[in-house]
Amino acid sequence: MKTLVTGGAGFIGSHLCDHLVARGHHVTVLDDLSTGTTENLAGVLDAPGFTFVHGDILDRDLVDGLVAEADCVYHLAAAVGVHTIVDNPLRSLRTNLHGTENVVEAAVAHKVPYMVASTSEVYGKNDTDGLREDADRIYGSPTKSRWSYAAAKGLDELVAYVHGSQSGVPCVITRFFNVVGPRQTGRYGMVVPRFVGQAMADEPVTVYGSGTQRRCFGSVFDVVPALPKLMETPEAYNRAVNLGGREEVSIKGLADRVVELTGSTSVITYTDYEEAYGEGYEDMQRRYPDTSLAQRLIGFEPTRGLDDIIHSIVDHRRAARPVPA
Ligand code: UDP
Repeated sequence: MKTLVTGGAGFIGSHLCDHLVARGHHVTVLDDLSTGTTENLAGVLDAPGFTFVHGDILDRDLVDGLVAEADCVYHLAAAVGVHTIVDNPLRSLRTNLHGTENVVEAAVAHKVPYMVASTSEVYGKNDTDGLREDADRIYGSPTKSRWSYAAAKGLDELVAYVHGSQSGVPCVITRFFNVVGPRQTGRYGMVVPRFVGQAMADEPVTVYGSGTQRRCFGSVFDVVPALPKLMETPEAYNRAVNLGGREEVSIKGLADRVVELTGSTSVITYTDYEEAYGEGYEDMQRRYPDTSLAQRLIGFEPTRGLDDIIHSIVDHRRAARPVPA
């Protein structure tokens, strides 16, 4: 099986590469290394049939050529992280809209089954208990840059879905809910690696807003194995499927847990959203997934709780630290 992973040097993409290589796939990664790194691929670079291509999903000919050679495509390349989106809105929009169009159009032209990674951001401010795949989207004004990511990903889903249903080429859309784990960087905003990094350095742990906003963090080790399973499940084609964890926590609660589990002396500080992200920023108060569709389709059952997740990130960072001379 020849498999193309766009964004394969990123956090989720690189774990998917590990998983696919372990299952005997010959994997090609297309990544522009804007937020990913080749270190993330250290475990697979020398695997049989593994190829790394440094390039941009906006390069239509490059994408078309790579898709034509593949038996299956996982499209994870995207501009990610709240800071990336807010700091580079135009570039992020182009990548997330036209990049996905390029991948999907190539997949359909060459009849290659494809998965498009989407996000719980598409639900926007809908804070219903247990967001199901058919839940409404509730967005703030388009002039608030935060919503551009949700809007682009919503359109990506439509592009994937309409092409998939018109062409009959198998297509799966996955919606990731705050997926976290080793290799995720806090540089672009994501809260768990930021808190772990701050706590391990005994620096202040920076809660934005009141800290009462709630999230449900999913482990990358629970989510990644679900991806090839969905690709092998015809009932999953042309639908969006939620993937995430079970344990909900407030951001203040997360900060406390991280400080406790790392044995840190960090204090917890509070920063206004405006100071953290710039003017006019909006956050969502709550986001909790209903993953019963994934459960029904592939028996998806997340097994890692928040403590497990935090420990796995801390262990990974400790192992990566240079040993003092
Ligand atoms: N957050 C925080 N401190 C940080 C980074 C993020 O308190 O250093 C908050 C952020 O405002 C949000 C939550 O943590 O309420 C989750 O943020 P993240 O960017 O990880 O994911 P998302 O907002 O997409 O759920």
